[in-house]
Amino acid sequence: MSGELRLAGYAKAEAERIVTTLFDWLRIPSISSHPERAPDVRASAEFCARLLTEAGLENVTLIEPPVAASGGDHPGPAVYGDWLHAGPEAATVVVYGHHDVQPVDPLELWTSPPFSPVIVDGECRARGAVDDKGQVLYEIEAARGLLAANGALPVNLKFIIEGEEEIGSPHFEALLHQEAARLACDVVVVSDTGMIAPDVPSITVGMRGLVAFDVTLVTSTTDLHSGIFGGTVPNAARVAADLVAALHDAQERVTLPGFYDRVRDLSAAEQASMDAQPFDEAGFMAAAGVKALVGEAGFTAIERTSTRPTAEVVGLTGGYGGPGIKTIVPATANLKIALRLVPDQRPEEITAAFEAWVAAHLPPGVSATVVPEGGVAPALTPVDHPAMGALVRAIERVWGTAPLFTRSGGSGPEEALGRVLGAPVLFLGIALPDDRFHAPNERMVMSQFWKGLLAAGELLVELGG
Ligand SMILES: [Zn+2]
Repeated sequence: MSGELRLAGYAKAEAERIVTTLFDWLRIPSISSHPERAPDVRASAEFCARLLTEAGLENVTLIEPPVAASGGDHPGPAVYGDWLHAGPEAATVVVYGHHDVQPVDPLELWTSPPFSPVIVDGECRARGAVDDKGQVLYEIEAARGLLAANGALPVNLKFIIEGEEEIGSPHFEALLHQEAARLACDVVVVSDTGMIAPDVPSITVGMRGLVAFDVTLVTSTTDLHSGIFGGTVPNAARVAADLVAALHDAQERVTLPGFYDRVRDLSAAEQASMDAQPFDEAGFMAAAGVKALVGEAGFTAIERTSTRPTAEVVGLTGGYGGPGIKTIVPATANLKIALRLVPDQRPEEITAAFEAWVAAHLPPGVSATVVPEGGVAPALTPVDHPAMGALVRAIERVWGTAPLFTRSGGSGPEEALGRVLGAPVLFLGIALPDDRFHAPNERMVMSQFWKGLLAAGELLVELGG
């Protein structure tokens, strides 16, 4: 099989250099959330820029995040590079990834130091091995291999490698707007996700959106004596509990009016793929540390965590929580609610529906302040999109079996990529569920890395065809 793959010979011949390169990059502790690591984040960006230049990309430069609008005193630079000689008829592809990493504590749980990469049992252990330096490196090496073999690429190619992903990409959308002309493209390839298992290749086709709210409830100017006032005045803690209880019905459906109106049915192909996904319920429950599963009636756990919208109570506080008892009627309470959205729900409509729902459920004499805490729209690339066909063929050729389609339950900057650049987003990701993202002993399974490199090359050829 691998003999027919365009980069098989390259990967074999260059393996030692590529692993050395990976190790050198992983030694740079580019933790974006630690201000004192800002020089390391910059060193990581410069390292990435050097890789792009050595690969044969041009116009390589660091792009400083446009921080002025929203503050931020230790910006992590993004890295850009391109190769634009495939001609105006050829597709233009943007590859997205990030070079910053998560913090490493608790340090004592690492079996080897997080910034001293090692390969043990076929896996590279280090912070950033799979999230995301390793996944960026196989994209760069795929471009380098094709350029080395042919002196040209089948597509016009642009890299944008972010330096602030692990702190929530605070300036990335502004950066996309600022650089929209330079990043103009026909398709985006995101290299920062995973697949179901080494022998069950899969493609993420969408991500959920997110809206969240901080709700403060006030019933009085002060906590009141329960013996004097109790039983006659509104109780803020009880109002909060009533709101929480009213948020779902007996089928565990969210009760906001119109909440499900725009939820798009799965296509037949996506539903078939969903039904074919293996699901280890006991393992899922063990990973979560729970003894029972709950959720919207009529849907599987996989659907509830990927293709269905949800509402979670993130926090519920109010009244007295100290030792013993205090005889009061609490005057204030707070709720934090987070809703995950799916195509084609719109954050602004759900926000308006939530605010109206809270107002409609308040008893007389109770006031509520609802503060929206950011919003991300859901994203989806249809499985029948021609670009998706190219990714399916690339993965099938490398893994020898057709990929399943999955959706990520999380939310991320990928939505902004597709929206601002006006292009379909493809997720080529080879991470495995056990790769310990953001946790001690993060790893990259090296057999997956090499397949990622091969698939990245096949995908560029497919997108150029
Ligand atoms: Zn990542």
